[in-house]
Amino acid sequence: METALWHPFSDMAMVRGEEFVLERGEDVWVYDAAGNRYLDATASLWYANAGHGRAEIADAAAEQMRTLAGYSIFGDFANEPARALADRLAGLAPMPGAKVFLTTGGGEAIDSAVKIARRYHVAQGRPERVHVISRTNSYHGTNGIGTGVAGIEANRTGFGEYLPSSSRVAYDSVDALRDEIRRVGPERVAAFLVEPVIGAGGVLAPPEGYLRGVADVCREYGVLLIADAVICGFGRLGTWFGVERWGVEPDLVTFAKGVTSGYLPLGGVVVHGRVAEPFWDRPGTTLRHGATYSGHPACCAAALANLDILERDNLIERGRLLESELAAALQPLSGHSLVCEVRAGVGLLAAVELRPDLLDRLPSAVSDLSLLVRQQGVLTRTLGKGLAVSPPLTIQGAQIDEIARAITAGLDELALKAA
Ligand code: PMP
Repeated sequence: METALWHPFSDMAMVRGEEFVLERGEDVWVYDAAGNRYLDATASLWYANAGHGRAEIADAAAEQMRTLAGYSIFGDFANEPARALADRLAGLAPMPGAKVFLTTGGGEAIDSAVKIARRYHVAQGRPERVHVISRTNSYHGTNGIGTGVAGIEANRTGFGEYLPSSSRVAYDSVDALRDEIRRVGPERVAAFLVEPVIGAGGVLAPPEGYLRGVADVCREYGVLLIADAVICGFGRLGTWFGVERWGVEPDLVTFAKGVTSGYLPLGGVVVHGRVAEPFWDRPGTTLRHGATYSGHPACCAAALANLDILERDNLIERGRLLESELAAALQPLSGHSLVCEVRAGVGLLAAVELRPDLLDRLPSAVSDLSLLVRQQGVLTRTLGKGLAVSPPLTIQGAQIDEIARAITAGLDELALKAA
């Protein structure tokens, strides 16, 4: 039955009256209204890292809601869950003296990080450093700045100009970043945004030496390095914030999703002690930025309970432990006649990309395939050219094989349709 609900990133003319209504979740499984069970091979939108149906997280949030459901942390106001969460994340972060700015999601974290970077330069007497460089294929949310820097062109077009002082460089080239900083003028560049592994833009792991290389270039030119760990954090790559895998020390890290495993909305920015210093130590240097629900006690309580589970059940390490198993299960799909590439091997994150000639011939191929795989009882996420796989970190070996089987069956059916 049709409702008034407008779905994000969706062709409502197609979706209306045809919604896929989910009702219940349990570990890696979700159930639709008719009681059919699906293996959640994408952890919803890359976020249910601890799996679905964790009563401890629900209980922690409910307990906090009964005690003090919500209260702002503007000025000197605070609450214990927000204080505890900030300390815990700062302690886990790959940079010294870290401070934590909380938001309600990833897009807001991106806008916050870029504004903090610009205000940091102002505080250092370099107000002309406003330019932001991002990468082709990158996704940084759909708030103002995230829209302005979007590396997936289609997400930027048709909305007007959101961030005139920004530009994009090839996602895999250190030289391209150096050249762009020199072209713009190092004295004008505020920050460089980088997803450790690009997510929505295709699941693209960095080439050998890339992250080290861009970190060095940023340092050389005084450009702040913002690592966007919204997808890559909290075990997805087998580490807390993704970047640790490459031994890189960013200036700011944005996070969301896995910090609560999506039980309640929460995101934020971890800020290097050096970058936080002007705001922290100089009276009168106020960051005039922040949203109503920053530090929301119930959301922070859910995050703390989620972090307890990730630690107790060793789920962070599991992201790394299972990466070769996921790659081994999916790699054979690269031999399928409709597939041009399988990208896997860095964390519990993978993509199956369809051949360009198929995409030309059958523009609906990706959504057709995801529906066919769903009919096999497995939920995947559509990318521009294929499917993404990013299951809960609790997934078991046999379930990984089941994902590969369902995608293969979906591809076989699509091949019949495309013939
Ligand atoms: N950055 C990255 C890398 C993301 O993948 C996303 C969301 N998929 C965002 C930012 C935006 O987060 P949110 O949707 O919570 O605003």
